[in-house]
Amino acid sequence: MSNVVVVRVDEPILESNKKIASQLRELFASRGIHVFEFLGSPGSGKTALIEKLIECYPGDLSEIAYIGGDVASTLDTERILRHGVKGVQVNTGGACHLEAIHIRKALRELDIDGVRVLFIENVGNLICPIYFDLGSSMRILIVSVTEGEDKFIKHPVTVMNCDVIVINKYDLVEVMEVDVERMISDARRINPKAPIVLTSAKTNYGIDNLAKILGLM
Ligand code: MG
Ligand code: ZN
Repeated sequence: MSNVVVVRVDEPILESNKKIASQLRELFASRGIHVFEFLGSPGSGKTALIEKLIECYPGDLSEIAYIGGDVASTLDTERILRHGVKGVQVNTGGACHLEAIHIRKALRELDIDGVRVLFIENVGNLICPIYFDLGSSMRILIVSVTEGEDKFIKHPVTVMNCDVIVINKYDLVEVMEVDVERMISDARRINPKAPIVLTSAKTNYGIDNLAKILGLM
């Protein structure tokens, strides 16, 4: 057993990702850009919440940019661009997460002059995106009440490493018969530091609270 050689392919990838992420972080800091990365399952409401934050943004919309990661489509980026902000789509070609190098490539196509806020929407996935730092200022985890109340317990690494936890689709809480108190206490136990926000992109519930936590209001 002790002769078994274990080849770990993940470490060099993560190391090089870390290096690019820290270069990106320096670039964003030097330009005064606040970068918010949204992570969550497909259908958790990442795009909808970004749209709501754009709608209530008090500054000029030219100060906002968006990078959307998706396996294949451009649907989310089209939705965001309709609001009059600039953005680009990163198609990962099947990969299930964004890496820092994707952000660097996206920035070649995105004019960030005058931008104060950059939203990065990761590929819908609760597992591996958290391992790839994208140089963001804050990582926001979105879990909707329709996903089941055990989501936080099933994905502790993601919960532990995010900066803000959003429980979305709160308007459906009664229909879904979800115990939100339990969700909150699970999240709190796994990550005692991250603020937890209840939101509904449908009714606007909690959107102002989220905007305040992100410093966008
Ligand atoms: Mg989306
Ligand atoms: Zn992945």
